[in-house]
Parts: sequence; structure tokens; C-alpha cells
Amino acid sequence: MKKLILVQVFSFLLIFFCLNESKATEKPEKEIFWKAGIARAKITPEEPIWMAGYASRDHPSDSILADLWVKVLAIEDDKGKKAVLITTDLLGIPKKMSDRIRNQLAVRYGLTRAQIILSSSHTHTGPVLMDALFDIYPLGDKEIDVIRRYSSNLEKKIVALTGDAINSMVRARIFSGNGVTRFQVNRRNNSEAELERQTSLNGPNDFAVPVLKIMDTSGKLMAVAFGYACHPTVLNFYNFSGDYPGFAQIELEKLHPGVTAMFFQGAGADQNPLPRRTVPLAIQYGRELSAAVERVLAEELRELKPSLSTAYSEIDLPFAALPTEEELKKLQSETEGYQKRWAESQLEILRKNGSLLKSYSYPVQVWKLGDQTLMVLGGELVIQYSIELKKLFGHDIFVIGYSNDGVAYIPSDAILQEGGYEGELSQMVYGMPAKWEYGIETRIIEELKKLAVKAGVEQVSH
Ligand SMILES: [Zn+2]
Repeated sequence: MKKLILVQVFSFLLIFFCLNESKATEKPEKEIFWKAGIARAKITPEEPIWMAGYASRDHPSDSILADLWVKVLAIEDDKGKKAVLITTDLLGIPKKMSDRIRNQLAVRYGLTRAQIILSSSHTHTGPVLMDALFDIYPLGDKEIDVIRRYSSNLEKKIVALTGDAINSMVRARIFSGNGVTRFQVNRRNNSEAELERQTSLNGPNDFAVPVLKIMDTSGKLMAVAFGYACHPTVLNFYNFSGDYPGFAQIELEKLHPGVTAMFFQGAGADQNPLPRRTVPLAIQYGRELSAAVERVLAEELRELKPSLSTAYSEIDLPFAALPTEEELKKLQSETEGYQKRWAESQLEILRKNGSLLKSYSYPVQVWKLGDQTLMVLGGELVIQYSIELKKLFGHDIFVIGYSNDGVAYIPSDAILQEGGYEGELSQMVYGMPAKWEYGIETRIIEELKKLAVKAGVEQVSH
């Protein structure tokens, strides 16, 4: 009897240990991953077309220095929530075009505005798009036709590519971090002509190089999305190129064959790459930026949990005092070039609508990928926004401008008071009726605080 009990106890213990053993070799819980998919297409114009970014240009494009691209990264978290980051080697995407594209993405793939970042690098050696910055160029009907054709193909391409990116999603891991490179120069507070003699540079700046690293589950690099806050204005000639961001992408894709490198512009509206104006300089800055990204990729990065939250809204930004009909008529008769064309188009709006535009609906967006926050804004955002937002939400957040609507310059309240190109003169170039009203900076930041709460992003200071 005693023997039998001992045998039973022994067999029980044996089974117990065997079970535990098999438990130990089994993975403790199912691993959870992101899904990610990438699609890309060349968007270099195939015929001569007017180029965007400089009012002084007097004829369409001559040739191609480097191809232009649209690239789409689709991601999905472990609950099935999707988002797409679309980057383009373009000056900016005007509101009407952006609305058409984002409406299509809603119809075809069920993506809300909160789930889409449609961004542009702001290269100044890309094509003029439909509905954008027309006042600054003396365009004839034939030239407008070329722009219309190009723009409509571009819209279709972006919509189709977004579908391709979503359909190609595989299990993936996403990492994030910030690097640094310092070729941006605050163009309001340093004189380009004096630069050679200057022994120190005046700020403010934000030299951060935000990086998202996307890998498949076998550890293979799939894509790198990175940014920098600086105008792509090294080049101003008549050959297409992505400027320094284009060369940074080319360099990274050369170093990592098969990988897609995507650039998003930061709050670089008052930052220039200086000195500038030669192709070797554009290549140099591209390599500097890609080297900064390479360093981030090589170091230990923060892995992001596969949880995604997104928030988006549009707020009314008011204009300051509007010009009167008499003032516009005076400008129409006394000025030439883009000022005259601006006065004419404002008078036309006045005749049609009985009044000028009093405010503008401005897009504001927040994404949270795991612990990584992205704050995304429309238009040409000046560096102060990046500085203020990082004070509020921490220095590791990504601040992205030039997205969802290439509206106009978005100056800080200090720059609005100082005036100058970013604060006042550029509004005419953008076809706006007047400068922005003082206080837009506070309105935008207050809205971002609200969206941050929705997206589960916490403030580090109040
Ligand atoms: Zn600009």
C-alpha cells in the first residue's frame, strides 16, 4: 500500500514538472505587433511645367536633376486602427486638392481626416499645382492646362498608392528617436549676405531630426520616415529635384537598398539652409541629414507599443483689418506683377461675394504611436511653434508642418508683431486678403492641447 502511494506521488510530481517544463518552453503570451505597408511612385512631370516657390521665375521647367516622389506608409495597431503618412516632394498641397484627396481616401478606405497626414517637403524645385499660388505667376491658358492635367494625375496616384500601401501591410515593429544636425539658419535673425563674416549665429532654431524606423518581424528594415525644420531652398533653378530632403532620401535608399526613405518637413518656415544655391550644397545638406538619420538608426531606439490614437480638427484663424475697395483699386493701378494680380483677384472676390474672406479654416492634428507623439499642422510653420510645443509636451515629440493644407505662412505672435516676409508680405503671395490677426499662436496651441487630451497625450508642463 505504502509503495503504491509512493509510486502515485512520484508519477504526480513527474507530470507536474513535465507540465511546468512545457509551459516554460512555450512563449508566455502572444506577441503583439503593428502592421505596416509601403507604396511609392515617381511624380516627376513628363512635360515642361511652371515651377513652384519663386515669384521671380519667368518660364516653365527645363529638365530633371533628380526624380520627385510620393511615398505612403500605412500602419495599423493591434486593435485594427489604421493611419497613413503620405510624403511628397512638392512645395505644398493646396486645400482644395488636399480635401479632394482626403475625401477619396474616406470613401475608398474609410480613413477619417484624423487618420491621414498628407504632407509636403516644400521643395522649391517642384511643379506648380492647381489652385495654388497662382497670383505670383503670369500663367496663360495653355500653361494652366498642363498644371491641371498634372494635378489631376497626381491626385489619382496618391489615392491609388494609399490603397496599395494598406493592401501590402505585414506584421511590423516601429521605433522612434530624435537625432540632430545643424545646417538650418534662422533667416530672420541672420543676414545671408553677412554670413561669411559672422562668427556666431542668432536663433531661435530647433535642430532635431525626428526618426521613425519601421522593421518587419524578421528584423529587416522596411522604411524610415524622418524630418527636419528647414526650407528646401538650396536650389532655385529650372531643373526638378527634391532639394536637400530629396538628396537625403536618395542617400538613405542607397545605403539601405530596398528600403523606402520618407521626408516630412518640420516647422522650418523661418529657417534656411545657408549658404545655398549650388547642387553640391544641396547634396551636402542631404548627406548631413541622412548621416544624422543613420546615427539614430544605429543607436538604441524606443520601441513603440502597437497602439494608435489620432485626433484632428479645423479652427478658424481670423485675419486682421481687411483692405478697402479703394485701397485695392489704388494697388491695382499703381503696382505691377504679383501685387497687381493679387489686387485684381481680391477685387474679383469682393465683386462676387460682397466681402473678402474674414477667417480661414486651419487644420490641426495629433497622432500618438505607442509613446511617440506627432503634432501636425498646416502651412508654413515657424520654428517658435516647435519650441513652444516641445516645452509643453516634451522634447521628444515630433512637430510637423506643411501638412494637410499648404495654406500660407503661420507666424508666431512675435513675428506677426515684427512684420517682414513671414509675418505680413507673404500673405499676398498666398492670395490671402490681409495678415493674420494677433493671437493665432495662442489659438493654435490651445487647440493642440485639446486634441492632445483626446489622443491621450500628456503635457509635461502647464
Ligand atoms: Zn516657404
